[in-house]
Amino acid sequence: MQVRFWGVRGSVPAPLNGKQIRKKMLRVLEFAAEKDISTPQNREEVLDSLSKEECLVIGGNTTCVEVKTNDAHIILDMGSGIRELGYEIMSLNKNNKPMQFHIFLSHTHWDHIQGFPFFLPAYLPNYHLTIHSPHSELQKRLEYQQDFRFFPVSTDYMLAKKEFVQLERDEEIKINNTVVKHIELHHPGKSFAYRIESEGKSFVFATDGEYNNLSFEKINTYIDFYNQADLLAFDAQYSFDEEIEKIDWGHSSALFGVDISIKAGVKKLAITHHGPERNDDAIRKLCANAVIYKKKNYKEQELEVFLAREGLTITL
Ligand SMILES: [Zn+2]
Ligand SMILES: [Zn+2]
Repeated sequence: MQVRFWGVRGSVPAPLNGKQIRKKMLRVLEFAAEKDISTPQNREEVLDSLSKEECLVIGGNTTCVEVKTNDAHIILDMGSGIRELGYEIMSLNKNNKPMQFHIFLSHTHWDHIQGFPFFLPAYLPNYHLTIHSPHSELQKRLEYQQDFRFFPVSTDYMLAKKEFVQLERDEEIKINNTVVKHIELHHPGKSFAYRIESEGKSFVFATDGEYNNLSFEKINTYIDFYNQADLLAFDAQYSFDEEIEKIDWGHSSALFGVDISIKAGVKKLAITHHGPERNDDAIRKLCANAVIYKKKNYKEQELEVFLAREGLTITL
């Protein structure tokens, strides 16, 4: 199973501004100052060696994750990150072969559907999109987003075959041998987490979920759902303090992500849905704190904690 993050921001796209780019450039220059950058190849190598450094860009697009298994091609949410995913799909499909994608929507807040009008495969007849969610009237919601008052091109111009599937409570979807399960999250208007299982591997996508003020019983249902996941992408929009202050705002923190991952025996925790008001340094700090918290409190347990960033690809 391959998981690739195309959008990792929450609420609204947050591209780098000039000041932030300059700061990153300064760091790159400092890093490269003592290196040999006399040839184009050397320069490429220096940039490649930055891949684990803080100069790397986390990315400003809103939520979209692509999951490829041996027998299913899945897209989780259609935030602005899906625009570039669309370009990639089309560039790899030079002969315009028929392709089917299963799209699962956590919910229809803007940051999870705003990329759909810019997803080029949706305009071409050789693509087949099956859009799933427990939310009702999915088709209407997406059509409304492209009402002429808000967007110049209606969904009538989207010539891909489109199917809309409203999932029943606890319904499991089978796409060949890939299984997709869901659970409701506490979020204004409800959000849903998905668990994808294929060939003994599992990925849980749990964005836009709050765990404050939930009963132990309720928390246990999430621990069961996340149980032994090879990878959990978890909403960590807030710092720990914000999580306490912003009751019923519908989001969680990296520290709570660590706690629940440990209880569920999760192997890798990717924190995501980064707040648009935080720059890359502030987001890295939240993650670094979560790594320290894990080391301090759960020394013996194995859990890898890291940031989801655009382009990050994980093979399970
Ligand atoms: Zn969101
Ligand atoms: Zn939301």
